[in-house]
Amino acid sequence: MVPVIALVGRPNVGKSTLFNRLTRSRDALVANVAGLTRDRKYGEGRMGSRPYIVVDTGGISGDEEGIDSAMAEQSLTAIQEADIVLFLVDARAGLTAADEMIAAHLRKQNKQYHLVLNKTDTVDADQAEADFAVLGFGEAFHIAAVHGRGVKGMIEGVLEEIMGPETEESEEDESEEDKARGIKIGIVGRPNVGKSTLVNRLLGEERVVVYDQAGTTRDSVYIPYERFGKDYTLIDTAGVRRRGKVHEVAEKFSVIKTLQAIEDANVVVLVVDAREGIVEQDLHLLGFVLEAGRAVVIAINKWDGMKEEERKKVKEELGRRLEFINFARIHMISAKHGTNVGHLYESIDEAYECATRKLSTNQLTRILEDATKIHQPPMVRNRRIKLRYCHAGAMNPPTIIIHGNQTEEVPAAYKRYLENTFRKVLKIMGTPIRIEFRSSE
Ligand code: GDP
Ligand code: GDP
Repeated sequence: MVPVIALVGRPNVGKSTLFNRLTRSRDALVANVAGLTRDRKYGEGRMGSRPYIVVDTGGISGDEEGIDSAMAEQSLTAIQEADIVLFLVDARAGLTAADEMIAAHLRKQNKQYHLVLNKTDTVDADQAEADFAVLGFGEAFHIAAVHGRGVKGMIEGVLEEIMGPETEESEEDESEEDKARGIKIGIVGRPNVGKSTLVNRLLGEERVVVYDQAGTTRDSVYIPYERFGKDYTLIDTAGVRRRGKVHEVAEKFSVIKTLQAIEDANVVVLVVDAREGIVEQDLHLLGFVLEAGRAVVIAINKWDGMKEEERKKVKEELGRRLEFINFARIHMISAKHGTNVGHLYESIDEAYECATRKLSTNQLTRILEDATKIHQPPMVRNRRIKLRYCHAGAMNPPTIIIHGNQTEEVPAAYKRYLENTFRKVLKIMGTPIRIEFRSSE
């Protein structure tokens, strides 16, 4: 599973600044998914080939009451779900009572944590660190989030601590694993949209053979199975398997597990409740899926028992709100009755095929040449942007690397034009495409 790094610290120490550095998107995904998380932010980042999830816990000071204490509780949940906690303090301000209260909280959590001394651009870091020695948190990372100083080294260190050193072998191992288990499907969606019903339905199909999970515990969130001789693995964020244990209460919806499933999947099935239509939280999730570059299939669930005019209204709304992701296949299903559930596989298989297809340099470059002939890139400072050739980079999502001159000046609209052209000519459905530019001057 993708490691989760939680940022904690009192207000104003620089958590959001660090969060923005660590995550890919400028405006962080404020995943208000469960409707509870008013100020917790989730984002995704990558160091080399290693993805990670960052949670900005929004700040706890240790003495909250009322609504603040509910939020503090959320922060504590985030801490529990994290693999590692980065405890930020302000080198300039020195140790405060709030820092000490948070430290006391953390000591009780039985978690791996590190002290992070931020704003070291403003003071002598070693001297500042002495001030925090009483916390007994050991050696601190010294960073200046605002300039990015020390951030890369810190994350490298932290990821190595969680997952061991990065080697070429560990990457190969991963792909071997992928092959063995087939297509990894993440079923995600808001609470109550019907995820567990769908997981049960998918696994309950007559043609499905669920493998005994040799070597894995029953608690595993991975459920490998075979359907028509083809391998799949469901990533069970709904906790269906664990719910089976009689005495256990259904798990609470977990944003972190959802984000991990998205990161970890090849294809994400986003489940939406037809009766509520597409809501903001669905779009947040979808935003995260695209940000992560995952292939996606949209399942509009609870289609049973809806009136014709209601259905018409929902379809109109879907067309409008999902226009920005017109490459994703949409299925109207009933997980409860099984209607259309089997058809999901057609789109899952298609999306996976498109996301992992081998694209030849020749073919890609020919498409690029045609596209730039029909519609030339613009002039910048009296010189035309030149795009010369391209080749495929990583898969899932398919990445196209275009070489040329002044490529950093390519306008967003032109990039979109190229992306749409590649998509159309190559008939790529169900997955975002990444375009990267390399300038030769
Ligand atoms: P948060 O409340 O913990 O999320 O803190 P913010 O990220 O909003 O930062 C609070 C203030 O500290 C902002 O004005 C930041 O610009 C500033 N800040 C954050 N990191 C640094 C840093 O490394 N150096 C300096 N000098 N200021 C910083
Ligand atoms: P989860 O929280 O996303 O895992 O949602 P559940 O699978 O627990 O379903 C939430 C509720 O919606 C339950 O009462 C289900 O019986 C109901 N439900 C799930 N799928 C359907 C469906 O296709 N049609 C209808 N009418 N109800 C459904």
